Amino acid sequence: MTDFEASRARFDLPEGVTYLDGNSLGPMPKSAVERARQTIADEWGPMLITGWNKAGWMNLPGQLGDRIGRLIGAPAGSTVVGDTLSIKVYQAVASALELRPSRKTVLSDNGNFPSDLYMADGLLRSLGQGHDLKVVDPEAVLDAIDESIAAVMLTQVDYRSGRLHDIKKITEKAHAAGAIMIWDLAHSAGALPIDLTACNADFAVGCTYKYLNGGPGAPAFIHVRPDLIDQVRPALSGWLGHAAPFAFDLDYRPGDGISRMRVGTPPVIQMAVLDAALDAFDDISMEALRARSIELSERFISEVEAGCKQVELVSPRDPQARGSQVSFRFAEGYAAMQALIARGVIGDFRAPDTMRFGFCPLYNTLEEVSHAAAELCDIIATDGWDKPAFKTRKAVT
Ligand SMILES: *Cc1c(COP(=O)(O)O)cnc(C)c1O
Repeated sequence: MTDFEASRARFDLPEGVTYLDGNSLGPMPKSAVERARQTIADEWGPMLITGWNKAGWMNLPGQLGDRIGRLIGAPAGSTVVGDTLSIKVYQAVASALELRPSRKTVLSDNGNFPSDLYMADGLLRSLGQGHDLKVVDPEAVLDAIDESIAAVMLTQVDYRSGRLHDIKKITEKAHAAGAIMIWDLAHSAGALPIDLTACNADFAVGCTYKYLNGGPGAPAFIHVRPDLIDQVRPALSGWLGHAAPFAFDLDYRPGDGISRMRVGTPPVIQMAVLDAALDAFDDISMEALRARSIELSERFISEVEAGCKQVELVSPRDPQARGSQVSFRFAEGYAAMQALIARGVIGDFRAPDTMRFGFCPLYNTLEEVSHAAAELCDIIATDGWDKPAFKTRKAVT
């Protein structure tokens, strides 16, 4: 039974703050504090190294992978947690290229998050086999898929505009052309219903500190379609992805199934916190969550547009064509966002002029959305952004 009042009560949101940045860093679930304490004081402290067996630390990457798998339509045993998303992107692209040795092009789009493009580019350069990374406009992706493409690597939700790619259609086209399909679900997992099984994607990756609320630096996840995993040769062949890590063989043999996508020692305390955070999804229907997310974002767009003419909607107007965020362009967007944050409404800013607002039905309410819209319109109507303190760029925007 989906109950958003109950799910909001699970989070510790600071008094007086309207948090519209869960698309960058999810807020802290109250249970995270106790779970971190338990892991440190009741497990690490008394158990020392025996915690890997006694407290089940070694199995957490697979267990958490399965919990996330349920949110993205991936069968049990096909998703594992570890490392950062950038690393998981690298792993997926490297494995995809080995599956298509005669092809030399990776296709992506310029709406992708730069780290995905940087990681692919770095990999292709170090392979030294003449691969190239082809980056086209998001609207041109479908037409650019042909039989020269080894792998299509896309992020479903554009981090700036929230524009949503059609996973099913693009995956079908990639497969028809014989290419491997890699989806980055960084802004999708926990934000919208996804059915990886139905769309038949080969690889999917994502992070857990955005809509999954796993906390700053929480590990990423990777999914490989079950019928493919036995052919996948991990490029990052670390000991914990080995078939028998404690045999300490000198030669690498990939582990069974998805366990081969593990690399090294996983972050136990951070995984425990993520485990606690995922409880928030236990009684939530992702369809109900999506419906509420659309209600929140539709209200924000209509109230901002009614109250201030100086901003321009960057996100698709059709709610079915965007993820769970809304972006507006404003020339002084950085200063306006700083002014908003000073008033307790937290969104973020992406250069050169985009103000981003993420909506998470687990804890955001319609009242908060109206409050945020009213504050934004007031700041713009009164030039409330026009103060030196709001114009100084911080390291993280
Ligand atoms: C947030 C995000 C990342 C960040 O990668 P990290 O390695 O976790 O820092 C990468 N790709 C996409 C698409 C993202 O949205």
